[in-house]
Amino acid sequence: MTNYTKKELLDILKENSQNDWLFSHANKVRQENVGDEIHLRGLIEFSNICKNSCKYCGLRCANKNIERYRLSIEQITKDAQNAINLGYKTIVLQSGEDEAYTTKDICKIIENIKNFDVALTLSIGERSFQDYKEFKNAGADRYLIRIETTDENLYKKMHPYMSFENRLRCLKDLKKLGYEVGTGCLVGLPEQTFESLVNDILFFKDIDADMIGIGPFISHPQTPLANAKNGDFTLALKVMALTRLLLPDINIPATTAMETINPNGRIIALQSGANVIMPNVTTCQYQEKYEIYPNKSHSTSIEYTRQNIENIIKSIGRSISATKGFHNKKLN
Ligand code: SAH
Repeated sequence: MTNYTKKELLDILKENSQNDWLFSHANKVRQENVGDEIHLRGLIEFSNICKNSCKYCGLRCANKNIERYRLSIEQITKDAQNAINLGYKTIVLQSGEDEAYTTKDICKIIENIKNFDVALTLSIGERSFQDYKEFKNAGADRYLIRIETTDENLYKKMHPYMSFENRLRCLKDLKKLGYEVGTGCLVGLPEQTFESLVNDILFFKDIDADMIGIGPFISHPQTPLANAKNGDFTLALKVMALTRLLLPDINIPATTAMETINPNGRIIALQSGANVIMPNVTTCQYQEKYEIYPNKSHSTSIEYTRQNIENIIKSIGRSISATKGFHNKKLN
């Protein structure tokens, strides 16, 4: 594995002359370490109700201009079953921080889905150690919780009433409990610096992440950041590619946000270090209501989405993995 100094990482991020080298090198490192197979994770966005008020997010509780929904345990189980019938080997359950689902409810959903032969990922925000423990005992395999930014001042500004310390505590608790842990950051938040992005990348390595999701910030009109500039696609891609170089064997998704700000974003990301796609398998009528940012893709049929993704993957000479796609740690 290659080691880069902070200064080297900073130079690569700031400079654009090495971009072609960076993207093709990250693609090669991806191929050598995790191969050509792409892991598909069926994403169920089961509630857009949230108690938090993250400045960038359209689901923030202060946004009154959004139709809220909350899927029942039965509906979530059914959505998972439909996705599994189409061949998905991992189900990801994501939501706002919706306290209506008790620990017992979440455990019930996990148990229902784990009756099938799949891996299960949770992405439901900050909970207590005890909750995380119960979810793990119920069968959850992985947990995604982005640090969003490691710049503590910026973190404070972006997340009123939340704390950076608690976000870190969550990541550490999840690691301790034996989850595969996914984290990541937003690229292009107002006032974010190149230095802080380098710190984000080093942080991912430091906490020994199993998965890293990186996406550009996309301005949402119903948030305090309505007038802020969108994050830059190329810069987000560079942060992703550098993450691949530093953590060669982890799972890295071509995120939906990448695709939203660049029509070819997904393919470009898959050819610059990414090896995972997270297609939306939520009952279609709810997909457009999970509007964390505008123009997020939604579909009229999960079968169509699957077919479309299979075609894209074939078109770039890659294949879909038939495994659950756990992080295969290599001794570097
Ligand atoms: N409540 C869960 C899931 C949050 S939604 C949690 O706290 O982990 C998943 C991710 O969407 C967030 O972690 C954030 O990085 C991203 N996101 C939210 N708003 C966004 C925006 N305006 N632009 C780009 N990404 C955004």
